[in-house]
Amino acid sequence: MPELPEVETIARDLRGLVAGARIVGARSNWPRTLRSHEPDDFAAAVTGREIEGVGRRGKQLLVWLGPGNRRDSAPAPGPEPALAVLTVHLKMTGQIFVVPAGSPEDRHVHVVLALADGREIRFRDIRKFGRMGLYRRDPVTGLPADGEAEGVLATGAEPLSEDFTAATLGRLLSRRRGRLKTLLLNQDFIAGVGNIYADEALWRSRLHPLRDAQSLKPDHARRLHGALRDVLAEAVERRGSSVDDYTAPDGDGSMQEHLQVYQRAGEPCDRCARPIRRIVVGGRATHFCSWCQRLPGEHAPAVRAATGAHPAGRGRRWTDLSGEGVLGRTGGEEARVRRVAANRKAAAIRRAAARSGVGATPPAGTGGIP
Ligand SMILES: [Zn+2]
Repeated sequence: MPELPEVETIARDLRGLVAGARIVGARSNWPRTLRSHEPDDFAAAVTGREIEGVGRRGKQLLVWLGPGNRRDSAPAPGPEPALAVLTVHLKMTGQIFVVPAGSPEDRHVHVVLALADGREIRFRDIRKFGRMGLYRRDPVTGLPADGEAEGVLATGAEPLSEDFTAATLGRLLSRRRGRLKTLLLNQDFIAGVGNIYADEALWRSRLHPLRDAQSLKPDHARRLHGALRDVLAEAVERRGSSVDDYTAPDGDGSMQEHLQVYQRAGEPCDRCARPIRRIVVGGRATHFCSWCQRLPGEHAPAVRAATGAHPAGRGRRWTDLSGEGVLGRTGGEEARVRRVAANRKAAAIRRAAARSGVGATPPAGTGGIP
């Protein structure tokens, strides 16, 4: 899923391409993509509006739309339409392109905004989890006006903002329980950080993903703060990590070539050359170096609980654990395992039924089932 650097890159590209353009129409072929309007109402609500700018909050794009100009000479029936903001959450596979109208379009394009200059903004989304919403805009904050978009935007701190200091992070951490990895993914704690940059920031700050947030000393919080901001800023500079389906209107990023742990399980750690481990925390694959990122001794019970290691194995380190460094399963892996098990069971039942003659055509009156 695109995270802060990827969404920031898209916002910057889009701003350069369409700021000042006027929307002359909209179409949509998948109503669920539009979280606030029916397709026809959405088209009516955006048509005639000028794109004033593009920004970002957490992992979502904000497209600022002007009040629009009524082309018809008749006076407006009601008050002038308010300033609006279009929120765009790309989720797993959402992509945005700006192309000349009439360019080839595949069936994964779900929303199109037609511009007066003959171009189109196209929202393409293979898995269809992406969402757009159109709301009245607070002119000061640029966010949806009060009560307009409850629960749509992240409420956590913006890690690249000026007021996000090491002291701020330290204060936030001291109030929270829970593992660092899980906390970093919580959008109401810090906005914009996802699986890639959580793993990278923890590796850079030498903090174990399972570590309890409350166990961090001020020095640890400073390290994590610096690592988070450094890795996010570097990723913005490199236009994000083009893994999975991410691309931006002006092209791919290159941060994927500079990631030190994410999806590198088994490869040598850039710091100590020991193999990168992969575990699953809260259903999310987690990559780290068990040598560079140590868990304080007093948290060993938490590790044993998480890994199922025998309690008698006191003091066992992650490096001693058996296997490929893969512990636990993600939600998707879990579902696959369940599916395979269910298929096996069904096949075993079919075989058993065939053997005992209790199949699809049991002899009348002689069924083996009472
Ligand atoms: Zn290492």
